[in-house]
Amino acid sequence: MALDEIAGLICSKLEEGGYRGIVLPIEHVAQLKNEIKERLSQKEIDAGLYDKYLNYFKFDVAASLPRIRSIIITAAPQPQRKVTFHLNGQTYVVIIPPTYYADTDDQIKDIIENVLNVDGYQLHRAALPLKLLAVYCGMAKYGKNNITYIEGLGSFVRLRAYLSDMPTGRGDWLEPQVMKECDKCKACLNGCPTGAIVPDRFLIHAERCITFHNESSEEFPEWIDPAWHNSLIGCMKCQIVCPVNKRYIKWVEEGEDFTEAETELILSGVPLDHIPPETTHKLNRCYMLDYLDVLPRNLRALLK
Ligand code: SF4
Ligand code: SF4
Repeated sequence: MALDEIAGLICSKLEEGGYRGIVLPIEHVAQLKNEIKERLSQKEIDAGLYDKYLNYFKFDVAASLPRIRSIIITAAPQPQRKVTFHLNGQTYVVIIPPTYYADTDDQIKDIIENVLNVDGYQLHRAALPLKLLAVYCGMAKYGKNNITYIEGLGSFVRLRAYLSDMPTGRGDWLEPQVMKECDKCKACLNGCPTGAIVPDRFLIHAERCITFHNESSEEFPEWIDPAWHNSLIGCMKCQIVCPVNKRYIKWVEEGEDFTEAETELILSGVPLDHIPPETTHKLNRCYMLDYLDVLPRNLRALLK
């Protein structure tokens, strides 16, 4: 197939499956790295946060995968999930925000590999800043809350990125855009309980964001009011009040139901090898195994 025909086929097969996809030449990884460096030097990104999160990213793709030629960015619509816990005779229903469920990852990977394998190309997972990639390639726009929004999906999406040795021609690399709906709207700014979203700058104060704190294993700072906690992990407050998400906020699907004994076990913070297989399966099905270290603290905050 001609250059870009395979990329086009990947995108159309993803669309057929209800997903979105954009393919870019690998050169944009270096561009992305430079953009982040520039933001760091302009103090638009906090150096402490960079050390904590951004160092996870692998920009030096050529070192480990020298034949890589393209990046494939994908987006999958995702609902919120309701997960139920029981304690002391009470039932507690808590929310897991859309981005954490990874059940669409395998389907997306299969769709892409089915196209690539015909010509013998490979697919690898990429560790790259997904929100930045999505806005630079034009797939998404930013909201005032620094969340990425995709036309027709709102912010109820899960982004992924892959690398391939499939060559591709050119791809759009655009200045990040903010949604026009944000021009006259302050709903997220008013709805954020912590004051992380401010009127005088685009970047939110990430160190004030509940997600930053409840994904970290450190103790919650004292200034966080316990009443602000609203999700098992992450925070939905600024997405729920956003008018762009109006069509999606009631899209909530049933998740797992943890018995009283399982709830007590999770709250006790026992390591994975002390959790019975049935409970481990439940935690796995709600994609919480990677968050076992923070679950007891987060759950306790919600059950208070
Ligand atoms: S709530 Fe309003 S300002 Fe905030 S992201 Fe949504 S549209 Fe933009
Ligand atoms: S995720 Fe929560 S804490 Fe963070 S900016 Fe949005 S509303 Fe504020």
